[in-house]
Amino acid sequence: MNKKEQYRMIPKTDVLLELEEMSELIQRFGRELVLEQIHLVTDELRDRIREGEVIEGRIEGLPQEVGVRLEKLMSPNFKKVVNATGTVLHTNLGRAPLSKVHLEHIARIAGGYSNLEYELEEGGRGHRYSHIESLLCRLTGAEAAMAVNNNAAAVMLILNTMARDKEVIVSRGELVEIGGKFRVPDVMKASGAKLVEVGTTNKTHDSDYEEAIGEGTGAILKVHTSNFEMIGFTQSVEIQTLSELAKKHSLPLIQDIGSGVLIDLEKYGLKHEPTVQESVRAGADVVCFSGDKLLGGPQAGIIVGKREYIEEMKKNQLTRALRIDKFTAAALEIVLKEYLCEEHAVRNIPVLRMIRMGKEELEERAQRLKARLDGLALEAEIEVEPCFSQVGGGSLPVERLESFAVTIRPTSCSTASMEEDLRRLEVPIVVRTANDKLVLDVRTIEEEEFVHFDQLR
Ligand SMILES: *Cc1c(COP(=O)(O)O)cnc(C)c1O
Repeated sequence: MNKKEQYRMIPKTDVLLELEEMSELIQRFGRELVLEQIHLVTDELRDRIREGEVIEGRIEGLPQEVGVRLEKLMSPNFKKVVNATGTVLHTNLGRAPLSKVHLEHIARIAGGYSNLEYELEEGGRGHRYSHIESLLCRLTGAEAAMAVNNNAAAVMLILNTMARDKEVIVSRGELVEIGGKFRVPDVMKASGAKLVEVGTTNKTHDSDYEEAIGEGTGAILKVHTSNFEMIGFTQSVEIQTLSELAKKHSLPLIQDIGSGVLIDLEKYGLKHEPTVQESVRAGADVVCFSGDKLLGGPQAGIIVGKREYIEEMKKNQLTRALRIDKFTAAALEIVLKEYLCEEHAVRNIPVLRMIRMGKEELEERAQRLKARLDGLALEAEIEVEPCFSQVGGGSLPVERLESFAVTIRPTSCSTASMEEDLRRLEVPIVVRTANDKLVLDVRTIEEEEFVHFDQLR
């Protein structure tokens, strides 16, 4: 068959539209989309003919091909994945997972009408922050609170409200970059505050701050170096000392503590991470932190502190642009409520449950996953091995949590190709590879997700 004859084999669009399969597709997806996909598929066939391919066998499959493409087009690209990396706060995988119970609550509130900004007692306009403000005050000891889109937005709003066109003093050792291009100097610039760097990379003394205070100073900012640790000849100034200095000069003290820790993690065998309560108690006037790091809630930037400053922030026009939506408000309230009783928090908040999980429990979970994988008769060597998990999300960077993994060494394909296959499943499974094996750290795999491994069959 020559090319001309091949071109002629491609049915005309009108003919294709008359097919019964097509009318079904039109019913489901509408004429416009079906037409678009027909054009794409037939154009592709013409390209193939031009390149010398023989397309004979493809004609009958044409309606089916259009159907497959329409299904793909209409199904979400944003999907659930199984996190087998062991990194609890995996920023690329959506940071903190939320519990089923909490999600049901969020769906009930945010799925319909709610009292987001409606005062039910009085029957008039309410405030969207009212649902979380008193809760946050009680939990942190602060006078007032609010929340915005994320912690980057919180820092921006704080500086814009409290120090626009003024100088803000920051230690050189705290001019950090956090994943996703949060850079302290850049956020400051965008907020309209002027950065005054003091000290050196490794050492900053209280005298460095004091010498930098002048006419134009608007605030002192302390930033938690969340995602790295400096060791050796280092020094930074404690928040208490900064608080005394700030008071002496009648300046506000702002602290970005990164991860919103509300409980003492040391109790659970982790390294101490500064808590919000400690910052408030130590005299920070305004403290901000993320909702979806160690707090284990939705993406948000929570701000707590002195009432006068928080009230000013609520009035700032930027707040209108950065405010949380009803999904976040519902999620924050329900997650924060758990913290009223620490036992509830560590049991019901997935992030806390995961980072606290003990070795025996993890080993048992790994054995159960191995048994499931053994049942699939994969062409692979499957074992349970000790490993280390990370907290991630720019929190506790040097902490390595002892954990257990199921390791898979494929015997009939390469480790790299199996890793890729796992990523391309209907419910993708994201894994680490090490020593030519897939490492499935069970810390971040919920028992009820084991069923997704049956896709490997
Ligand atoms: C993570 C982090 C941020 C950014 O928080 P997002 O909620 O991701 O915007 C800002 N500052 C510090 C110190 C952080 O650790």
